Amino acid sequence: MIETYQFQAEINQLMSLIINTFYSNKEIFLRELISNASDALDKIRYQSLTDSSVLDNEPKLEIRILTDKNNKSLTLIDTGIGMTKDDLIQNLGTIAKSGTKSFMEALQAGADVSMIGQFGVGFYSAYLVADRVVVETKNNNDSQYIWESSAGGSFTINDSSITDLARGTKITLFLKDDQLEYLEERRLKDLVKKHSEFIQYPINLWVEKEIEKEVDASDNEATNDDNNKEEKKKKKIKEISHEWQFLNKNKPIWTRKPEEISKEEYSSFYKTISNDWEDHLAVKHFSVEGQLEFKALLFVPKRAPFDLFEPRKKNNNIKLYVKRVFIMDNCDEIIPEYLNFIKGVVDSEDLPLNISRETLQQNKVVKVIRKNIVKKCLELFLEISENKDDVKIFYDQYSKNIKLGIHEDSQNRSKLADLLRYKSTKSPDETTTLKEYVSRMKENQNQIYYITGESQKSVENSPFLEKLKQKGFEVLFMIEPIDEYCVQQLKEYEGKKLVCATKEGLDLGDSENDKKVKENEKEQFDELCKVIKETLNDKVEKVVISDRLSDSPCILVTGEYGWSANMERIMKAQALRDSSLSTYMSSRKTMELNPKNSIINELKERVNNDRNDKTVKDLVNLLFDTSLLTSGFSLDEPHVFAERIHRMIKLGLSIDEEHDNIQCENENQIIDNDEIIDDMEAVD
Ligand code: ADP
Repeated sequence: MIETYQFQAEINQLMSLIINTFYSNKEIFLRELISNASDALDKIRYQSLTDSSVLDNEPKLEIRILTDKNNKSLTLIDTGIGMTKDDLIQNLGTIAKSGTKSFMEALQAGADVSMIGQFGVGFYSAYLVADRVVVETKNNNDSQYIWESSAGGSFTINDSSITDLARGTKITLFLKDDQLEYLEERRLKDLVKKHSEFIQYPINLWVEKEIEKEVDASDNEATNDDNNKEEKKKKKIKEISHEWQFLNKNKPIWTRKPEEISKEEYSSFYKTISNDWEDHLAVKHFSVEGQLEFKALLFVPKRAPFDLFEPRKKNNNIKLYVKRVFIMDNCDEIIPEYLNFIKGVVDSEDLPLNISRETLQQNKVVKVIRKNIVKKCLELFLEISENKDDVKIFYDQYSKNIKLGIHEDSQNRSKLADLLRYKSTKSPDETTTLKEYVSRMKENQNQIYYITGESQKSVENSPFLEKLKQKGFEVLFMIEPIDEYCVQQLKEYEGKKLVCATKEGLDLGDSENDKKVKENEKEQFDELCKVIKETLNDKVEKVVISDRLSDSPCILVTGEYGWSANMERIMKAQALRDSSLSTYMSSRKTMELNPKNSIINELKERVNNDRNDKTVKDLVNLLFDTSLLTSGFSLDEPHVFAERIHRMIKLGLSIDEEHDNIQCENENQIIDNDEIIDDMEAVD
């Protein structure tokens, strides 16, 4: 029976894109198909570790490539796990992965087609060179099926024709007329060498051999001339025969000595295991010997994958081998989540061959391997830090991982902190490390200051930094959401406390004497502070005189242990957050007044004359709203704020409210306009 299915819409789009591309580097299709074959072999080998009978009907694990010049077809056969009918329908056509759309977007943004493998849609690269593809497949748990498609929106599945597969998958590509180069032996050999040299299974190519054979000449010819009897009896003829040629003879690269491996070999191996089209950024090849033995080869890619922090994504980064036998791909236990960008292999001498995912979790050997891998990764990152260009690439791509690591990995926190880089008040264009920051600290400075916020622009000119800048204390700009989480855990660096410039209790390194003078000054503002607190009521926790302002009239600081304004913004943006948490954590605000500011001084005078002065209350509300904005909070009632500002605009334009007939209905509830006008004039 032959059934017809429609390709899922996005896959269909992807296929048209692939078929119509003018992309010249089409050869990558072979690498993608070989990589799929190798994955399928991995899967059956893994099953065979616990149940050897799965290999009964086909004991060999290998990949075969053959061509047929008459049919203009190229065929790849693997003895891997094969696909059931459901697998075929889902994997090759009806279920689009997240990568399908992402890949098309990437292409439109100018990405290279050879990135296809990274997006998990490598199979469709077959249509770069073929206009018809036939997939025959046999899985141990199902009969055999033949999938076929010439693109154009649909594919068929045939369960009646018989294939010669005992287990595995056979993909035949009917090549486009301008792609017949892939029938050439030489071309195929070169391609396997270039892209698939380090595949762990034998790749055999069906090659043509011309052999010269000596055959007996016919008796008639031989008897006539006795002198030339010997020569005439034999005759040379050319015969064409075929044989399998083994293409990837290398032993596993990680078992070789690092000093004997060239950069090109590492890079070629990296590309095989990662599906990356670019070279790696850095590599660490090491072996651990002694009580426990393993070899590992770890790579840092130049680019983070598009879905690095996609929660449902399974990591496919560290391949675990036991005594050179592949065990599993996504071995979560062997590397912490924050290092999920590292690619590589680990080959252990001590783990049992039949180890399962479940037993991995409790395994002591795995724990030791994991610890060593983290240590080596950190060494590798330090090596990267020594090169100015590399560290820039590294930090651009993986700063989130480093910060996540600081949050999660208490043991390695200080080492990870060495890798942090921020722009700052003293280094606004280039990032600086904490070490460099400490080396620049002023003599009377005891702490490392930072400010968190939405962007460099918003923090750079924040009123919170006025005094710090004046004193020459450097402030780090932390403008990624994850910074908030990271500094929660990173309390100090090299014995210096990290202090947030927007939180209360900021110590500016003043001497005891200075502090005393300030205390005396502050007393004069006691009454104003009280009146403001009464006016704002529970909008603020308390009102105090500030040390950190030099220009702005006032700001809102948050408690040392609660959320900062920036954290509040981040939490509000999280759709699935538990809103009960915000009652405990959301910022308790303290209003800090600048005793040197003329507005504050004028308010102080007025309150001292008459603590019930109504205009003071109105102005306090306006000051509160503006300081919400400059301190990084959002306004709860923007329209009220806007109306207050509009009144001031009218004042600026000398519009007399009595002659203004466009009146707001609830104007009088908000503020008495005449009073504010009087008031503003008085302050000026
Ligand atoms: P990826 O291999 O990145 O998952 P592909 O588009 O290349 O994406 O393949 C889609 C799926 O089809 C694979 O995940 C696999 O389940 C299945 N598949 C492809 N080729 C083979 C093969 N040779 N043997 C078994 N399954 C295969």
